[in-house]
Amino acid sequence: MVKTEQQTLPSPSLNGGSSISADKDTNKQSNHSLQLGRVSGGSALLGMTLEELQDVCLQLSMPKFTAKQMAQWIYGKHVHTIDEMTNLSKANREKLGSLFSVGCMAPVETQKSKDGTVKYLFPTENGKFVETVYIPEGDRATLCVSCQVGCKMNCLFCQTGKQGWQGNLTVRDILNQIYTVDQLIAEEGKTPLTNIVYMGQGEPLDNLDNVLKSTTILTADYGWAWSPHRITISTVGLKSHMRRLLDESECHIAVSLHSPIHEQRLQLMPAEKQFPIADIVALLREYDWSHQRRITFEYTMFGGTNDSPLHAKELTKLLKELFCRVNLIRWHRVPDVPLKEVEMDTMEHFRDYLCNHGIPTTIRASRGQDIWAACGLLSTSPRAGRFIPSEQ
Ligand code: SF4
Repeated sequence: MVKTEQQTLPSPSLNGGSSISADKDTNKQSNHSLQLGRVSGGSALLGMTLEELQDVCLQLSMPKFTAKQMAQWIYGKHVHTIDEMTNLSKANREKLGSLFSVGCMAPVETQKSKDGTVKYLFPTENGKFVETVYIPEGDRATLCVSCQVGCKMNCLFCQTGKQGWQGNLTVRDILNQIYTVDQLIAEEGKTPLTNIVYMGQGEPLDNLDNVLKSTTILTADYGWAWSPHRITISTVGLKSHMRRLLDESECHIAVSLHSPIHEQRLQLMPAEKQFPIADIVALLREYDWSHQRRITFEYTMFGGTNDSPLHAKELTKLLKELFCRVNLIRWHRVPDVPLKEVEMDTMEHFRDYLCNHGIPTTIRASRGQDIWAACGLLSTSPRAGRFIPSEQ
């Protein structure tokens, strides 16, 4: 059923026709030519499936085929106002505009790293904020999106976990990060998005309905028509939802592993108690990973904690004969966390051991550390002391 009630208005600076873009040299927002759709004046169309857009047409006595045209404008051509949907009749545009808006929301802050990484602070429908990170690399560019405000998982090493959980993002909140950044970088002549990773704030499997709906729209013919193999969904491994993710999505999956030893993983990641990594790996073994769909294990390394030859050996045993890859990630110090950063030569030895034992392993380059955009550093908590929106 389509909702038509008036939605809560975010801060006034985000209202109709606002034009905000990244300032290339400073951490501040600046006015720009990009026209971002209004966030007030009715429910958002962004985030609706084709079927839901058809419900809108039915409700407004518009022809059913108009829904497909609307989807093409919103998801294919990335328009930000209903007025831009020029193959809809003027009367239908007015009818639609009286109850709905496209619903794109501009970032309220932008930070640019010296390595080209850009971090955006987006408002959410429920008046909170989340961070999104654009990571260009040669002719590729990855967008790391958030799916929750904060996170319930409380991983020891993660700044988002310290923030606690403050709500799930809606489908619109998730897609807004993607569509708005895509528009901003196009305007600035930056490398277009080639990949999307659900690795920002939050645990995707703890907001699975909205995450799956967002990927459905991204991959649908009426949507962005992206291959699911350009999208990776990361998880600590909530086994209760894992099978649904495996069965209902073709996206790549990244499992946060971080230690092959139960007692230690439990200390690093409380989720291990309910969903031991051994059970997650056993479930993954039931699926065929030898074709295009990929399973990757993320292994954040902490000096003197999970970087020993014993860990490498145990990891090899755990993943034996599973068609997978391992990404080693350098951890960056988070205040009040009793863990140490790892030496690069230790990472290289660890990688070499895994590779020599049949597990393709790479050391993931760390990006955006100077703007707190690297892995484990995202937070929109005022306690984190940065990226605090002025109009909260
Ligand atoms: S590492 Fe991921 S799952 Fe763990 S607390 Fe941080 S955001 Fe949540």
